[in-house]
Amino acid sequence: MTDTPLKLFNSLTRQLEEFQPVHPGVVGDPAQPPEARVYSCGPTVYNYQHIGNMRAYVFADTLGRTLQWKGYKLTHVINITDVGHLTSDADEGEDKMEKMAAREGKSAWDIAKFYQEDFERDLARLNVQPKQHPRATEFVEAMIAWAERIAPRHCYELESGLYFDVSTVADYGRLARAVTDEGEGRIESVEGKRNAADFAIWRKTPPVETRQMEWDSPWGKGAPGWHLECSVMGEALLGFPFDIHTGGIDHREIHHPNEIAQNQAYCCTNGLDDARNSGAKIWMHNNFLVERSGKMSKSSGEFLRLQLLIDKGFHPLAYRMMCLQAHYRSELEFSWEGLEAALVRLKRMVIAVSRFADSASPLGPDQMDLIPLDTIDRASLSTVIIGQPIKPSEAVLELWDKFDAALSDDLNTSVALTVLENFVSLPDIHNVVRRAVVDRFDSVLGFGLTSLTRADLRIRPKSAQITEAEIEAALAERKVARAAKDFARSDALRDELAAKGVEVMDGDPLGWEWKLS
Ligand code: AMP
Ligand code: ZN
Repeated sequence: MTDTPLKLFNSLTRQLEEFQPVHPGVVGDPAQPPEARVYSCGPTVYNYQHIGNMRAYVFADTLGRTLQWKGYKLTHVINITDVGHLTSDADEGEDKMEKMAAREGKSAWDIAKFYQEDFERDLARLNVQPKQHPRATEFVEAMIAWAERIAPRHCYELESGLYFDVSTVADYGRLARAVTDEGEGRIESVEGKRNAADFAIWRKTPPVETRQMEWDSPWGKGAPGWHLECSVMGEALLGFPFDIHTGGIDHREIHHPNEIAQNQAYCCTNGLDDARNSGAKIWMHNNFLVERSGKMSKSSGEFLRLQLLIDKGFHPLAYRMMCLQAHYRSELEFSWEGLEAALVRLKRMVIAVSRFADSASPLGPDQMDLIPLDTIDRASLSTVIIGQPIKPSEAVLELWDKFDAALSDDLNTSVALTVLENFVSLPDIHNVVRRAVVDRFDSVLGFGLTSLTRADLRIRPKSAQITEAEIEAALAERKVARAAKDFARSDALRDELAAKGVEVMDGDPLGWEWKLS
């Protein structure tokens, strides 16, 4: 484990806190390693995820990777909300899943399966490491058992369902910045609630309705309230208290305060002066990705999905780069220009890394394979390289420490990126050390730098009217024409390419020969 303590911003205490694992492990016993257990609120799979949602998972993934960098064995859950919930945080409105099912002429179960698969495809495209993805529908029985346990002391029944009385736990809403009038107004509308902020634990199916997704319960046929699933799955899969709970900043206001209230009720603990009473030791929230024209909203027709970025020709990891350039607690404004700048930055890194990754290693490729790159840390950097200890210079160790310090400072990925860039341009570093350090830094940033090529990062719009083979053929012919000093033919070829959206880039500093616009 590296030296700088990991500090994370806890939304509950509103300060940076040193990460102290709930399960610190036993020194010297590999069977009991130090552990980190993380729960990240996942998507409601009634529609595609937009890139704002994906920012939440890039953040959660970076947190997970940082914990691994720090030497923790990571258990990380992102739940899948496949039970239909209502179209707002309020306890009224239409059921999102059933509404989409009706619109697409499919069953609610098929809708959930389809959008979960799409979500998982996007996670993989962004190099989010595989995580556990429990589905809410698999935990309904456990949710009913949980509700039965807390109901006598904390809930009351109305015609529409079983409600949680928020006045029965101490410090309700401490996590939220402000219980806004708008928030209260949205929630108040259910008749008979004792407090405006009370929320549904179980929603009964109204007598005149039939629902595709409903279950029997002591309170009648219906479905669990949305907040319940995260409490139940978090406790079942990670145990209370677990280390870190994450979500987007919107969850800080309603969803997470309600989860916390349920957790307090379940554990029979009360005040939140000890953060562990909330079910998790640290609550972390990523700020929003925003977009001025409103394309982030799923109700706006063609909203901003990762697939749209890909169709416009961008490699999805350009979006990962865009996220990592900003601090997760800052608002990030999306623009196509910003995305292009992120892509260029990634390209420059890939080109820099490929220069030394490709050059022959003095150890030979077989020995390179033997190097346990994923286990190298600062202390072992000079000794683990099999066969010949190669001493890294002070400059390398200094950058290693800077990288570690940046991540340890509440995941300052923007500084970590710069450190990686500084590292790849250090002169006179042995290729083996270079490769080892880049791989370790990259294990946290998550680009897969040594497996990307600059050609992978070419902008390739789906709407292009010409294939890459045709472009390459035209450019080859142009080269022949130029060599023969047939400038008329060379210019004509260039114009033909331009008419099809191809910009020929003679003398480009990065060595690109063409670009599709
Ligand atoms: P949802 O499917 O609406 O529950 O959202 C999934 C995750 O994305 C949650 O953690 C949200 O807080 C988060 N989220 C929603 N919109 C944005 C956004 N524009 N930027 C960043 N995170 C978001
Ligand atoms: Zn949740």
